[in-house]
Amino acid sequence: MDAKKFLLNEKDIPQAWYNVIADMKTKPAPLIHPGTKQPLKAEDLYPIFSKAASEQEVNYTDRWIWIPEEVREMYRIWRPTPLVRAKGLERLLDTPAHIYFKNESVSPVGSHKLNSAIAQAYYCKQEGITNITTETGAGQWGAALSLAAKHFGLELAVYMVKISYEQKPYRRSIMQTYGAEVIASPSMSTKAGRKIITENPNHVGSLGTAISEAVELAMSTPNCKYVLGSVLNHVSLHQTVIGLEAEKQMEMAGEYPDLVIACFGGGSNFSGVAFPFLRHKLSGEKADTEFIAAEPSSCPKLTRGVFQYDFGDEAGYTPLIPMYTLGHNFRPANIHAGGLRYHGAGAIISQLKRDKLIDAVDIPQLESFKAATMFARSEGIIPAPESSHAIAATIREALKCKVEGKSKTILFNLSGHGLIDMTAYDRYFANDLANYEVSDEEIRANTAALEQIMK
Ligand SMILES: *Cc1c(COP(=O)(O)O)cnc(C)c1O
Repeated sequence: MDAKKFLLNEKDIPQAWYNVIADMKTKPAPLIHPGTKQPLKAEDLYPIFSKAASEQEVNYTDRWIWIPEEVREMYRIWRPTPLVRAKGLERLLDTPAHIYFKNESVSPVGSHKLNSAIAQAYYCKQEGITNITTETGAGQWGAALSLAAKHFGLELAVYMVKISYEQKPYRRSIMQTYGAEVIASPSMSTKAGRKIITENPNHVGSLGTAISEAVELAMSTPNCKYVLGSVLNHVSLHQTVIGLEAEKQMEMAGEYPDLVIACFGGGSNFSGVAFPFLRHKLSGEKADTEFIAAEPSSCPKLTRGVFQYDFGDEAGYTPLIPMYTLGHNFRPANIHAGGLRYHGAGAIISQLKRDKLIDAVDIPQLESFKAATMFARSEGIIPAPESSHAIAATIREALKCKVEGKSKTILFNLSGHGLIDMTAYDRYFANDLANYEVSDEEIRANTAALEQIMK
């Protein structure tokens, strides 16, 4: 292991986030109000989100959006994050490719999620909000928001997907350590939760059920807002600090990526690392850079989903989003990369994919753990099961380089570490994990009804 690091100074923490929509020739279609079927304006989002987040959500014109100084101040706890040349992995693969990774696992909660959690909690505090609610799958988002809420003096209730609540008790403990209230979803505490449990008492929960419950609580509690950790435009926006830093660091390394890769749940870490580089593709200056989103084979919305307006949640509370989706009722297999078990992709990503500006691959669970193990043994960091999908996609590309005898510069985002996911690794080593494929029939059955949503 002789990883080479490229480090920035505190003053290099970006001063503005990059809003890719401003540079997109074909803008994403607007979010639609599920009742009126009219495009949403920022005001329509005020009942759910903070005003600042609502405005960022529909901002199609400002290329740069200032990062408040209080947010940058908190970023200083762990930013700028290192960019690392993965020499150990290159040697293990015996590839001519140059592999770099941006290490977002060094945040206090172990993932990139804190980049947006801090911004959103800050805006809520500014607007006089006292309580916030959210959902969390594997627990990374909840952990990040718990820390951010505590810092800005907000009360937080987290709806955690029931299966994760049971399987990942340590993330629950982390949230509780930071002072958040954690509720397993579906729960009996909301109408949406009670309905789901009545219809299916054994429902193990999904991001969809948890979002429904959190949104319902936010709408029915005074001075309470809902905060979302992925999928939406403003979340992707906040994550662009990743790519903006990486851009400077690649320059220090004297290289520019041919390929930018990240794992894909709702799209926030992918957006974060990709958009700042994509801006040079959109301008025509770096037309050949390729962008690859690595999603799990068990939840293949970008590679096999349909492009349709769909709800962001299972109960149908959120606005309708123009997205690649497997249908909001899709129940992905219980893979260990909990953060990737989401049925859709954000509006920006979906439009970019339609326009062939980005690409996607799907990775079977076992391949992701094989890649994770290779990475841990060659680079010393145990990756999150989610991030392992990006590593697997990187390894595929690096091996292609080897076969073709061609060197490429690959940058991937290490979205988080896996130190709280060791049960998953245990099961992998015990040969107790399987691959899950989704059948075409299942996808068709689950997406057939979507056309009705807009009628
Ligand atoms: C949440 C999470 C993801 C997936 O979410 P995106 O919004 O797609 O980035 C990926 N990696 C880690 C470590 C996560 O916590």
